[in-house]
Amino acid sequence: KTPFVLFGVPFHNVTFEEAIQWTIDRVRSGRPGVIATVNLDFLVLAQADPELRTVLREADLVIADGFPPVKLAPFFGPPLKGRVTGSDITPMLAERAEKEGISIYGLGAAEGVAAKAMEVLKKRHPNLKVAGAWSPPYAPLEQMEHAEILRRLDEAKPDILFTAFGAPKQDKFNHMHVKTWNVPVAIGIGGTLDFIAG
Ligand code: UDP
Repeated sequence: KTPFVLFGVPFHNVTFEEAIQWTIDRVRSGRPGVIATVNLDFLVLAQADPELRTVLREADLVIADGFPPVKLAPFFGPPLKGRVTGSDITPMLAERAEKEGISIYGLGAAEGVAAKAMEVLKKRHPNLKVAGAWSPPYAPLEQMEHAEILRRLDEAKPDILFTAFGAPKQDKFNHMHVKTWNVPVAIGIGGTLDFIAG
């Protein structure tokens, strides 16, 4: 799984199944890690934002959320096996989490949406452990109530955290806290909670 670098952003060459297995292994290891799902907009933003490039360089798994990175890959190195989108991997992770007895938490989106999305997943997978859900008030990253979010996560102790503040805010948020919180896997999923909540 050697990462290859596209416009300064390292990608991992994984299939959906490999990314899901990586997540399960990481949860079992208990060592906090972060997954970033990167699309073309995100690559463009990263060009003008060195902090964002650091966030992506230090992410543990960077996956190609869309066709552009997949189409561009062969010009820079070995082809990618395919795209691994946040919107598709989220329900797949929920399904696998149920089988593995692993808990999930939905964080972000508009008020009530994270809870609704977790409810929908729980209906689909009755034995799924939902550790919690919360949609904090919209605010720029610096003005968010980090202490309150961390307190809730500490109490809920999720295995997989779905962070849905949109890119790049969600990825900067995960990067800020990964070294100090006890969340085994946090993944930025953009608008996926909205899709799931319907
Ligand atoms: N969002 C949020 N806090 C904010 C801004 C956005 O929780 O301060 C949520 C928004 O409700 C939506 C998601 O983040 O659920 C962003 O979705 P979008 O599709 O715009 O993100 P992208 O796919 O571009 O990362």
